[in-house]
Amino acid sequence: MTSAPVLQISDLRKSFGSEEVLKGVNLTVQRGEVVVLLGSSGSGKSTFLRCINRLEEPTSGSITLNGNSVTASNANLRTLRKQIGMVFQSFNLYPHLTALKNITLALRLSLGQTRQAAEEQAKHMLAQVGLAEKAHAHPSELSGGQQQRVAIARALALEPQVMLFDEPTSALDPELVGSVLEVIRLLRQRHMTMVIVTHELGFAREAADRIIMMDKGEIVEEGPPEQLFTAPKHPRTREFLKHFT
Ligand code: ADP
Ligand code: MG
Repeated sequence: MTSAPVLQISDLRKSFGSEEVLKGVNLTVQRGEVVVLLGSSGSGKSTFLRCINRLEEPTSGSITLNGNSVTASNANLRTLRKQIGMVFQSFNLYPHLTALKNITLALRLSLGQTRQAAEEQAKHMLAQVGLAEKAHAHPSELSGGQQQRVAIARALALEPQVMLFDEPTSALDPELVGSVLEVIRLLRQRHMTMVIVTHELGFAREAADRIIMMDKGEIVEEGPPEQLFTAPKHPRTREFLKHFT
């Protein structure tokens, strides 16, 4: 028996000019599933994630979120982006706003919450990522790891159906990586559905339900972490993993 998929992506294609960077990607993500996407630089991982919430327009193919079309021309992008949380490598906080205001702004604009309700919810979210005491700090007063946790709290505040992470720890000093991965582990325990692009292979192996290996715009291999790490089938997967051992 399969449960209802949260995301269903069929034959997704994306070209930039004459270069086809996604060549018919199929992926179904079940509720509560954690999928980690691996692949070398330029393989199309970011483009793939960005197509899922239509930050990038797919050239063709279909995407549904809880059965609702994301790719239909009349899809409501505002609603969609509330339901698909996205966290980037480069935090993307508003530098002139405090941690708290970065979150309340999202709540007020996206959910139309009152100032008071938004502040309450934002404080709750900051506490969840261990930053209750940093509510009034500006991004420049926070470490990269703390900024990224604020960005995660901001995305989570909108109560998304799925969270997409694009190399959330790649811009961080090594000693700050752990605090961000810890937050993602916590989300996993709470059964958040997630698609994560990362080069943290130890984390991938421990936290993923399924690993997807992407190469040149295609999924070349997928499977449970143990299988993929101990007995990779595709030559590109073997070569990729070699660089990390
Ligand atoms: P990855 O995240 O796996 O490193 P990307 O999705 O960023 O890969 O890029 C895949 C390919 O698409 C690369 O060849 C990249 O140069 C190209 N690409 C990505 N975004 C654009 C864009 N906006 N315009 C033109 N080419 C792009
Ligand atoms: Mg990328």
